[in-house]
Amino acid sequence: MCQLTRVVMAHSSSSKPVGSSSAPASFGRSLDTEVKFVKGVGPRVMGILKKLNITTAKDLLYHFPRRYEDRTHFARIASLEHGETATICGVVLTADNVKTRGRLVLTKVVVDDGSGCIVLTWFNQQYRKEQFNKLRGREVVAYGTAQIGRWGVEIGSPEIEVCSDETDSLSSIRIVPIYPLTEGIFQVHLRKIISGAVELYTELLEETLPEEFLDRLDLVDIQTAIRNIHFPESQESLLAARKRLVFEELFVLQLALAMRKRGIEAPGQGIAFNIPPDLDAQLKELLPFELTGAQKRVIGEIARDMSRPMCMNRLLQGDVGSGKTAVALAAMMIAVKNGYQAAMMAPTEILAEQHYLGISNLLGDHDLMGIRVDLLTGSLKSKNRRDVTERVASGQTQIVIGTHALIQENVEFRNLGLVIIDEQHRFGVMQRAALTEKGLKPDVLVMTATPIPRTLTLTVYGDLDVSIIDELPPGRKPVKTHWKQVTERRKVYAGVRSLIEQGRQAYVVCPLIEESEKLQVQAAAELAEHLQAEIFPDLKIGLLHGGMKSDERDTVMSAFLAGQIHILVSTTVIEGGVDVRNATVMVIEDAHRFGLAQLHQLRGRVGRGDEQSYCVMICEGNNQDSITRMTTMASTNDGFVIAEEDLKLRGPGEFYGTKQSGMPELTIADIFRDIPILEIARKEAFAIIEKDPGLSNESFAGLRKDLLKKYEAFELAAVS
Ligand code: ADP
Ligand code: MG
Repeated sequence: MCQLTRVVMAHSSSSKPVGSSSAPASFGRSLDTEVKFVKGVGPRVMGILKKLNITTAKDLLYHFPRRYEDRTHFARIASLEHGETATICGVVLTADNVKTRGRLVLTKVVVDDGSGCIVLTWFNQQYRKEQFNKLRGREVVAYGTAQIGRWGVEIGSPEIEVCSDETDSLSSIRIVPIYPLTEGIFQVHLRKIISGAVELYTELLEETLPEEFLDRLDLVDIQTAIRNIHFPESQESLLAARKRLVFEELFVLQLALAMRKRGIEAPGQGIAFNIPPDLDAQLKELLPFELTGAQKRVIGEIARDMSRPMCMNRLLQGDVGSGKTAVALAAMMIAVKNGYQAAMMAPTEILAEQHYLGISNLLGDHDLMGIRVDLLTGSLKSKNRRDVTERVASGQTQIVIGTHALIQENVEFRNLGLVIIDEQHRFGVMQRAALTEKGLKPDVLVMTATPIPRTLTLTVYGDLDVSIIDELPPGRKPVKTHWKQVTERRKVYAGVRSLIEQGRQAYVVCPLIEESEKLQVQAAAELAEHLQAEIFPDLKIGLLHGGMKSDERDTVMSAFLAGQIHILVSTTVIEGGVDVRNATVMVIEDAHRFGLAQLHQLRGRVGRGDEQSYCVMICEGNNQDSITRMTTMASTNDGFVIAEEDLKLRGPGEFYGTKQSGMPELTIADIFRDIPILEIARKEAFAIIEKDPGLSNESFAGLRKDLLKKYEAFELAAVS
């Protein structure tokens, strides 16, 4: 058996009582010690560590392993199976370079563990031959995925460690930490540096979580946690260490969110609206349908917020077609009936126009309301625009709907009391704030049609209250979604034709070209031309894209709505809000270029009436990601399921402008895996801020310091 088994553990971590240490007094040592003074770090290494954001001794302690290798057991080479990921330990026999057919150089290293031999391989790393020839007869540890290949059992590009003579107890028979690296430093070296730092500096760490917390939530103290996150003795001690550190990280985040929320709410400074006693009756009169239970519940939640003397800051989630507009209208009625103005901001002109038309139609038919609604977008002619801004400034206009144009400097409100923002994820946090500042602490309702996974409502959106419309209006049939190969396009068109013959209409969404708006417009125009000339010469084809003037788009949309256009070829400008019930089929070209959330949004344009609707995605499904997206779309209409999947595929950083959220990156917590801890941390943090908004209690002093350091850019109103 290998010599490593004889090595004594260097780190007996959990056995060490808190705060005690065998080392002499920590004179001259501090957590802020520059890393170049830490053992094993010279000026060269210092430069390298800087790239890993490590500049102090404390940073070393908080440079957590990205994974671990359980080397308490080495796999027997003879028992390895194809596809098995394992760590083996054996003696180097030979190392050779061989040329492959593709002119690559393959280094082949044979290692024997007594049970059998394995071949370790590397492509184009010729120096490996020399490296391993020097190691002949020595033991190495290799980690990787075993495969049955040309030379028997092989591991391609394994992670390698040499068992040195001074016997590296850190890399041997134990659970071995594997650190994130950067160029110029190797695993073994960094491991040694961190080990030295853990030995010397851990005892200087002060506990920031109150004792009561540790007991009640079953968390280990900080020193034990840091020791065991690096060099755990067992899986259990590793889990306990991780739990503590994850909790702390999420807890601090939640404290920041709780404070920020409190700051936004500004108790006592918001408008306390009176809820008109006849609100229900008025809505009944205005709306051509009965509200769903979910709509009623959500309106209730909003009304409750609005009646409080705090600023509402609520996120309204509802899948496409769930009826958010009616809810928005109810909120606007409350504001207007109280003598305030309401503004609604949408991400595109088309969407703003649709909201404007929809809402003014509802109100227009009912003179008794006497409410003036205006539209404010970038493409308004200047005369028109001046009139609108004047009416908004004088208070003549009670409801204004628009785009970014609303947040421009020259737009002033008389008394803006309610801000509604549609399609949240397209606006950054800053834009949200810009509109809010046009009023005096107005209530804010953010609407999104893209369901936000719970992980994110608890973190990135954790300063908002959440309402969910989880019920579609009655009578909706789920859209049937299919995924077709490019070769089946003719068949798809035949299907479209037969639906049109039955009196329906169709959307064809053209391929997404992200690089250039001009190319995008061209692609849409070409597709429309092709369909008109080659496929549907007898039908009326319309074209809609972002390069058109708004009156041109209006003309096209009205014609489509009136049934004068059979097939509307469009870019993603139809993604949001467009509502044509008779359009029951959507063909998405090059569907693999779209993200899941976007596909779901697009699909939401059909299935809005009583007829069965279809969505056909034409896709070259050759990569795994696009296959996952297509199958997800075909298998569910549930926006939440799709959002979760989307988040998994793209990662939280890419999701809905998470990057602009001002939230620092998490270093150890994983908001997918750690939801249970996240929920506890959130509950505890919000309870504390409720009682002690400024975290002024002595027992929170350390936490407060950490919090301010980490989240200073986060507008923590309650602390200051
Ligand atoms: P969202 O903005 O959530 O995508 P909309 O507010 O545009 O959805 O509503 C989608 C469609 O459903 C609209 O045509 C609307 O008139 C209709 N609708 C909304 N609520 C109801 C309801 N309770 N019953 C029947 N139809 C409804
Ligand atoms: Mg909508």
